[in-house]
Amino acid sequence: MRVAVFNTKGYDRRFLEAANRGFAHDLRFLEPRLEPATVPLAAGHQAVCVFVNDVLDREVLEALARGGTRLVALRCAGFNNVDLDAAARLGIDVVRVPAYSPHAVAEFTIALMLAVDRKIPKAWARVRENNFALDGLIGRNLHGRTVGVVGTGKIGALVARSLRLGFDCTVLASDLAADPALEAIGVRYVDRAALLRDADIVTLHCPLTPETHHLIDARAIGAARDGLMIVNTSRGALIDTGALIGGLKCRKIGAVALDVYEQEADLFFEDLSNEIISDDLFQRLLTFPNVLITGHQAFLTEEALAAIAETTLQSVADAEAGRPLVNRVDTGRIASPS
Ligand code: NAD
Repeated sequence: MRVAVFNTKGYDRRFLEAANRGFAHDLRFLEPRLEPATVPLAAGHQAVCVFVNDVLDREVLEALARGGTRLVALRCAGFNNVDLDAAARLGIDVVRVPAYSPHAVAEFTIALMLAVDRKIPKAWARVRENNFALDGLIGRNLHGRTVGVVGTGKIGALVARSLRLGFDCTVLASDLAADPALEAIGVRYVDRAALLRDADIVTLHCPLTPETHHLIDARAIGAARDGLMIVNTSRGALIDTGALIGGLKCRKIGAVALDVYEQEADLFFEDLSNEIISDDLFQRLLTFPNVLITGHQAFLTEEALAAIAETTLQSVADAEAGRPLVNRVDTGRIASPS
């Protein structure tokens, strides 16, 4: 099948080309992200392969359909950037990679938690300047703290398990349904308000939906414990950034670690080191000593990239052969916030 691969980075190309030896699809690698201005590049391709920040709103999907595209293959798990209703109406199938490596994201989440609390980036910057002073580097034990895990699907369950069994944390969880395997190791399901009220650390692992949009807002922050740590490796818009900054400024929030950011589409995955960044909220976040941000890299392991490439190209092959699409995103499942 002819596939236009948007938003291609060197690592995408490397892993997709390696996986494609077993499929022989006609892959056209494109650097720009998919959006209204770039959608003509997809003309004549039966499939487009896209990532988290490509734009798949009604306008783009209609243009894709006019150009002959019948399949959108997301090389990620989340699909909040796709207007699923429009895709269904236009007869475009949407597939994703539901579980390429939950371990990659779960491990990165724990790494962020430890790094921000134990001030590892600051310590490393000091040591590189031969500054071995320890003032200002005092952290807290993770052991024994209360962590609230919002969303205990594939990633959240691994995080909860690691915190419970590895660090002996008290783990509170909130999800639409409880996971008995987690309950069996002592994870306690509570409603979201109780979780936000009682946790020292809140880590977000639910999808972005209209219901979870800005679930961390000024009210949630106001009701939280003093010194709350917030970790988000799921989707940026789960957090109201303005409220987060307010909570940091009044010292209600003790630490923040983010791998995702509400307006990341304008920033992440590009080298902007010589550019002026006009996002004042993002720039303000960078000024806090207790904030650690990475640019949506939690998924980025060898294992995950290989699995993403393999699953994506298998879905394309299944679509081409008319086989059932096991990784199809069902229109009725989750409404796109767009
Ligand atoms: P999953 O579908 O296995 O789990 C999501 C869980 O959230 C489910 O158990 C679901 O019931 C629960 N949930 C849904 N609505 C909820 C609500 N309102 N309140 C509480 N829980 C709710 O997904 P996953 O593979 O564990 O991925 C979780 C999220 O991580 C994805 O939505 C994706 O956005 C994000 N992600 C980020 C990266 C990264 O690189 N940073 C990589 C992969 C996935």
